Amino acid sequence: MNTHRPIELSKGCGSAPVLKERGQREVFCGLTGIIWLHRKMQDAFFLVVGSRTCAHLLQSAAGVMIFAEPRFGTAILEETDLAGMVDAHEELDREVARLLERRPDIRQLFLVGSCPSEVIKLDLGRAAERLTQVHAPRVRVLNYSGSGIETTFTQGEDACLASMVPVLPQTETEQLVLVGALPDVVEDQLVGLLKAMGIGPVKCLPARTVEDDLGIGPNTVFALTQPFLGDTAAALEGRGATRLSAPFPFGEQGTTDWLRAIADAHGVSAAKFDEVTEAPRARARKAIAAAKEVLDGKSVFFFPDSQLEVPLARFLVNECGMTAVEIGTPYLHKGLVGPDLAQIAEGPTISEGQDVDLQLDRCRAARPDLTVCGLGLANPLEAEGLSTKWAIELVFTPVHGYEQAGDLAGLFSRPLRRREALAL
Ligand code: SF4
Repeated sequence: MNTHRPIELSKGCGSAPVLKERGQREVFCGLTGIIWLHRKMQDAFFLVVGSRTCAHLLQSAAGVMIFAEPRFGTAILEETDLAGMVDAHEELDREVARLLERRPDIRQLFLVGSCPSEVIKLDLGRAAERLTQVHAPRVRVLNYSGSGIETTFTQGEDACLASMVPVLPQTETEQLVLVGALPDVVEDQLVGLLKAMGIGPVKCLPARTVEDDLGIGPNTVFALTQPFLGDTAAALEGRGATRLSAPFPFGEQGTTDWLRAIADAHGVSAAKFDEVTEAPRARARKAIAAAKEVLDGKSVFFFPDSQLEVPLARFLVNECGMTAVEIGTPYLHKGLVGPDLAQIAEGPTISEGQDVDLQLDRCRAARPDLTVCGLGLANPLEAEGLSTKWAIELVFTPVHGYEQAGDLAGLFSRPLRRREALAL
């Protein structure tokens, strides 16, 4: 493999000052990630150790699943647990045994911590070790925190994937690993393009099942598909793997830059790269052009929510002709989003964290054409005459890669078209 050249950060917004805020926040918690993780990992079960509030959040977020046997559930902590009047560990062991007996299809069990389990300091790490000893080798039991204390909703996926890294087998094989839970169809498209360039073997984390034979080692290079996987990246690097730095694969340019970083590291010729990417690139450009008619020249304001804000701002500014007023993100991990940040021309306010009232004041003063924010802020802002896009839709909808570039642009153009239609 070739040595990878990191992308320059000393231009664009890469060195812009960052407005850091630490006040009241309006975000979902990490339990939300279970909604897309349980679809991806076909032999996994997510057992939230939490309260009725946690159970309600999951049920309402995944309402469609009531028709199928779900692969997530909540072990509800009652008042007696919270008061320390019963042994919560014993109850948990009983619940897990009942669950695994009833569901022989489960091969990986995640004990997911919540605010209540953290407040009473229930040691789920110890529980996972104990339960692994009881149920191995049939079931692997891991744990991570999905609590909303000081976290945002995409950190649930990061914590889940990071919890898997230490138990992956060691391998010396030269391989590429794509990291991030993408819908299968999108994952297949990206893997297909890489294989067409002659790159392989290509593996994915998370794998669809434990049988997928994913190992990690010093000859592993990996590319993140999501910008919120900082802990997972650190855990992989701790196992000796090497991360490829690139803009994230959103839109035609983002996907091309991401693929090119991987192709360069694997010595793929420019001619081969162009041969493989030319047709899908043209399709992506054409699909984006339809939405660009609406987005071009409009302004956008990002509230911090999904941690996708920086790569999406790059897409909207550079590929759709929008002007970013403010790019707010819960955490600004320049090591990961630096290449996207560097491609955004100076001008927008870059903010990290949130003080929601101050940020609402800035948004109202700017009156952007489009505001990307959480569900809780969208309705009040719509009532004030602002067009909004729910940030959470961006993780529930397939948006990565060439074939989804038009859908991604469409997610942002639809609220503007709707408001124009209502104004007629
Ligand atoms: S983990 Fe915390 S924030 Fe999330 S639903 Fe449960 S109590 Fe609420």
